[in-house]
Amino acid sequence: EWQSVPLAPPDSIFQLTAAYKEDTFEKKINLGVGAYRDDNSKPWVLPVVKEATRILLNDETLDHEYLPITGLPEFTAAAAKLILGADSPAIADGRVSSVQTISGTGANHLGALFFSRFYQWGPSEKQVFLSNPTWANHQAIFKNVGIPPVDYPYYDPKTVGLNFDGFVESLKSAPERSVFLLHACAHNPTGVDPTPEQWAIVADVMLEKQHFAFLDCAYQGFASGDLDNDARAVRYFVQKGVSLLICQSFAKNAGLYGERVGALHIVSTSKEAAARVKSQLSVLQRSEISNPPSHGARIVSLILNSPDLFEMWKRDIATMAHRIIDMRKELFRLLTEELHTPGNWDHIVKQIGMFSFTGITPKQSKALIDEHHIYLTGNGRISMAGLNTHNIQYFAASLDSVVRS
Ligand code: PMP
Repeated sequence: EWQSVPLAPPDSIFQLTAAYKEDTFEKKINLGVGAYRDDNSKPWVLPVVKEATRILLNDETLDHEYLPITGLPEFTAAAAKLILGADSPAIADGRVSSVQTISGTGANHLGALFFSRFYQWGPSEKQVFLSNPTWANHQAIFKNVGIPPVDYPYYDPKTVGLNFDGFVESLKSAPERSVFLLHACAHNPTGVDPTPEQWAIVADVMLEKQHFAFLDCAYQGFASGDLDNDARAVRYFVQKGVSLLICQSFAKNAGLYGERVGALHIVSTSKEAAARVKSQLSVLQRSEISNPPSHGARIVSLILNSPDLFEMWKRDIATMAHRIIDMRKELFRLLTEELHTPGNWDHIVKQIGMFSFTGITPKQSKALIDEHHIYLTGNGRISMAGLNTHNIQYFAASLDSVVRS
């Protein structure tokens, strides 16, 4: 049996982490990791999550029954308000179909599956436009449901910034009703986001061409430290009436990576359409996972629905985001003021979120690993969360050295 099954290559990030763990060099650094670390390189359980967990443990009314197929209602309702805004007319009109998913990955999958069954492709072929580059899982997720991914230009290696003209040109030349996957904030892997003015232009073209915005929002609050600020593009698109859905993850902003808490929100033009959409999402979800897991959703629901915990959460988010922003500033200072490293490093402070595209070559990335014990992906992406006050000097000096050689 299984003679024809080829051996799949291991996941590259997993491989990187394994190599890092085996390395015995004292000053080794892991910049591949896509999870927050504190100033001592340790995972951080948010104080608000500890508090919510304590409350849940003492709640005698809770049991381990199944949740409804579409998830914990008080979680999905609060999650929709968090991303769309508490005063969102779309929510007031009953036009939002929200389903609890297996974190952001599950939201992407359920959204993609729904598209494969129900989207009226019109003049567009069955395909999804993904930014070049994007989170590698996007390709796999859409291929899994039979929707071929195609690239749209996004990152410009020359400026280590956004290829905005190429992006807009691709929106304009795509067939009407095309589906574009957009990162709502803190683009992974580049850390390069459109400005509010650029988002407005993107929204205009999408409306004109009746494109659908498949919005992936994995970093709300984590990017700027402010939940509302990071939801700006999403809310603007909703306000303008762009057809859209949102994939929402609480992995990063609540530090609940392993709990798999997320939601898919599809915004329709009428309450009646939203009811039909939700009914089909429920049918799809039933055959995929039957019911989503309860523990993480209960934690997030408590945080979102109790004003005190919500305030505490905002402080925790600011702690994480600002530590990362401080690391950006310090790395920039070290490279430009202390080491006078050749090249322009403005992008280090301009990019946002956990990841940064350094702009270094694959050869230089390899030299960081082989000669300096600093682990990062071959495309030069570093996780800012891997830097801290203890290792940033060593990192800056190593980067300086590979750039010069
Ligand atoms: N989308 C993007 C762009 C991401 O970076 C991530 C996390 N790496 C996710 C979705 C989903 O992550 P999770 O399933 O852990 O919520």
